[in-house]
Amino acid sequence: MKSVIIGIDLGGTNLRIGAVTPDNEMIAPSVIKSSVVAHAERPIEKICEIIAEYKKENGIENVEAISIGVPSSVENDKETVICTTNIRNQNGEAVFSHMNVAGGIREYFKIPVYINNDVNNIMLYDIVVNHLEDKKVVVGIYIGTGVGASVVLDGRLLEGKNGAELDLGHIPYFGGDITCSCGKKGCCECYASGWRLQELRKEYYPDTRIQDMFTRHKEDKPMVEFIRACANVYAVMATIFNPDTIIVGGGIPEMADFPRETFEEAVNQNTGRDVMAYGFDYVYSREFVGKGVIGAAIFARKRLALHPQ
Ligand SMILES: [Zn+2]
Repeated sequence: MKSVIIGIDLGGTNLRIGAVTPDNEMIAPSVIKSSVVAHAERPIEKICEIIAEYKKENGIENVEAISIGVPSSVENDKETVICTTNIRNQNGEAVFSHMNVAGGIREYFKIPVYINNDVNNIMLYDIVVNHLEDKKVVVGIYIGTGVGASVVLDGRLLEGKNGAELDLGHIPYFGGDITCSCGKKGCCECYASGWRLQELRKEYYPDTRIQDMFTRHKEDKPMVEFIRACANVYAVMATIFNPDTIIVGGGIPEMADFPRETFEEAVNQNTGRDVMAYGFDYVYSREFVGKGVIGAAIFARKRLALHPQ
């Protein structure tokens, strides 16, 4: 059997796990509730148990590394999770906060273990499936419940000093006065997010199901404003980075009848003119539940190639 990497996508709701081959095929995908980890007395031991059981049940051997994506920034050691705001224990505390998650798992399995921000992993997946590996600058912005972003420069993920870079959901929208879940006022997420779409639905369209919001109302003023608010953050990033390609993803742009044309017009209008003189390509991330698992494996392979064990 070929060697595989066990990829895990630990989301706010679901934990997905799969064994990924060197040609990025996912074997034996499986899903459980993230609360199994979140509510465990010892969450890291619980993750080890889940992996051990997964290996046994599916007869997975020759595991080269384990790679886990989390909905949080991760320190540049790619071991320490900064804060899982969306994964909380029964006392309402973030399950992982400034905690080394990789160390305990590595000790248990005696193989390399990597932790990465989930959006970075999805970005690596999108780059591979869309053959963007040779581009100089790729910017990915993923609007779901919140807003996540990732930037790849010359094939490398952009890293800040500590790993807390690109917290795009909380960049300020000037003049914004809505209070954000983070405690600040007027963050991007207050205007361009799944949360905002739910608020618009409650206020203007209580009889419309969330998944029909674009289909039924994309021409209406509140929805056009919402689309422009989403476009704003793409325009900011395009203006900063002068990218080859912008990847548009996340639950919102992946919804039925998301008006790509209106959206792209708004991005192009608001992007700096020097950048627009050269332009950039739009790539839309496609809905697929395995993105985070395969992306985690791609990340591990990149790390293994850089720092052979
Ligand atoms: Zn905020």
